[in-house]
Amino acid sequence: MTDDRSPRLVWTDDGAPRSDRFGDVYFSREDGLAESRAVFLAGCGLPDAWAGRDRYTVAELGFGTGLNIAALLDLWRRQRPAGARLHVFSVEGFPLTREEAAHALSAWPELADVARALLDVWPLPTPGFHRLDLPQFGCTLDLAVGEVEWALSQWAGRADAWFLDGFAPSTNLAMWSDSVLDRIADLSAPDARVATFTVAGAVRRGLAARGFSVDKRPGHGRKRERLEARRTGAAAAARRPTAAIVGAGVAGAALVRAFRALGADPVVIEAEGPGAGASGFPASLVTPRLDVGDGAIAALFAQALRRAADLYRAIPGAVIAEGVLQLEQALRDATRHARVAAQPIWAPGAMAVLDAAACVDRLGEPVQGGGLLMREALAVRGGAILEAWLEGANVLPFAAAAVETAEAGWRMRDGTGRVLIEADVVVLAAGWGLAGLAPQLPLTPVAGQADWVEGVATPPVAWGGYAVPTGAGLLFGATHARGQTVTQPTAAATEANLETLAARLPGLAARVQAAASRQSRAAVRATTPDRLPLAGEIEPGLFVLGGLGSRGFCAAPLLAEHVAALAAGAPSPLPRELARRVDPLRFKGDL
Ligand code: SAM
Repeated sequence: MTDDRSPRLVWTDDGAPRSDRFGDVYFSREDGLAESRAVFLAGCGLPDAWAGRDRYTVAELGFGTGLNIAALLDLWRRQRPAGARLHVFSVEGFPLTREEAAHALSAWPELADVARALLDVWPLPTPGFHRLDLPQFGCTLDLAVGEVEWALSQWAGRADAWFLDGFAPSTNLAMWSDSVLDRIADLSAPDARVATFTVAGAVRRGLAARGFSVDKRPGHGRKRERLEARRTGAAAAARRPTAAIVGAGVAGAALVRAFRALGADPVVIEAEGPGAGASGFPASLVTPRLDVGDGAIAALFAQALRRAADLYRAIPGAVIAEGVLQLEQALRDATRHARVAAQPIWAPGAMAVLDAAACVDRLGEPVQGGGLLMREALAVRGGAILEAWLEGANVLPFAAAAVETAEAGWRMRDGTGRVLIEADVVVLAAGWGLAGLAPQLPLTPVAGQADWVEGVATPPVAWGGYAVPTGAGLLFGATHARGQTVTQPTAAATEANLETLAARLPGLAARVQAAASRQSRAAVRATTPDRLPLAGEIEPGLFVLGGLGSRGFCAAPLLAEHVAALAAGAPSPLPRELARRVDPLRFKGDL
């Protein structure tokens, strides 16, 4: 993010954080916490308003230092309904750094541990949605970094409570515009509450005109009055659907994780065992699809990579190596890589252009041309990830052959017509197996073989072919047999992989040739006409997560959370414009 998104933070004489950009303080130093509790928590009727709820969603305009959310978490951890989950969506156009927030929150020693938890997951200031996990509080926080209008237009959620904490309308109209108020009304649950420190007439009238009953209340501290507003409808019941997932590769495992995070406990149907398909190699690359022309594709994979990396780092033994070097393949790649590195969606320094000398340094052998070092990309042990996410899951060892509507939800049958399961929602996540279960989807198989040897290692590197450390050796590949579904490894494919390696990294290829005990494996990936995944609903209650091609380990964790959110009626971590790009029905008009 460029400097013009800086809040220009300064500290007042009494130590309060102040934005020079807006000419206002984030909170008052002497009673900011008490004010936050009085204006926003009490203003939204908390904790009473969440009594008896399974899930409660709070949306905030103006994340700032995170003080309001820290105060909310503090109340939630003491007064949450048993087993309930809190979802927070907050918007910030001008993010503070972690250090600035730490300094600001240090004013409240009684919130020290909540503040620490928040600071531990403090996101990068890159534009887009950031999903942050606070499992110790049963809370998920989606922080939208960007303009308020954009953030609200992108959020697929329903708020039970709103904290309107933009700076005063007199100085910052953008946070209180008619279209912002329209969005608030559209994104409110039927019994939603709104709290704010301002009693400006335009805000009161604006909320009233949108169906809220609005009350002025005695203010806190130096402020004379504050505002409470509410809608009077019946609270919508949270859905915890029974769910069945077909497939136990990275997509299925990520879905199990995502459904569990929403309080559901899905059943998995998997005929051959976890990782039987394209997720089952001894090492896998977690790399984003790069795109310099289409901002949405770049943003989708930047968000997916960040989410995947966060989650994989939390699994013991999952990460084999950090940083993947993408070598230049054509002359124009130098320019292309420089353009990628300049995209604001990446953390500062996350994408670094290396010259030939730096590539030689990294790989320890001569290479032609430079490359792009993707520092957030990873090599992972897929097996460790599947094991962690499928632990304790009910995995039924059957081959699903057909899915049909049932009285409530969906029914799966095997090839003999025997009923395997009925569930409210079914997610098809069976890799190429999707083609048989949902033939209407435009999927193409691409069979691929990779080979590996023991005792040879190099940092992860890709150039069309790739070489990835497995921890014990080196995996290299892969062939791309478009339209093929054969998974029998062949000597010819091994030869082709060795040639690909030798063409670019002859020294490494020689070491691989000299190694004993070469092993091979082939699997089928499924791709789509636009090479973007399929993640969403194809019929009411029937969902897919597939078409992940060779980027399953990058895309699956985030997209699984999107699909699980759709299925459970929970807020999605994906901005709407990105959800549209992976909508499985997007090709309908073309078919
Ligand atoms: N709730 C915060 C806390 O607990 O520290 C204080 C919020 S402060 C009063 C208002 C926040 O709104 C600032 O962080 C500011 O950067 C953000 N903001 C102002 N205008 C915005 C806009 N147009 N879009 C997004 N965020 C905006």
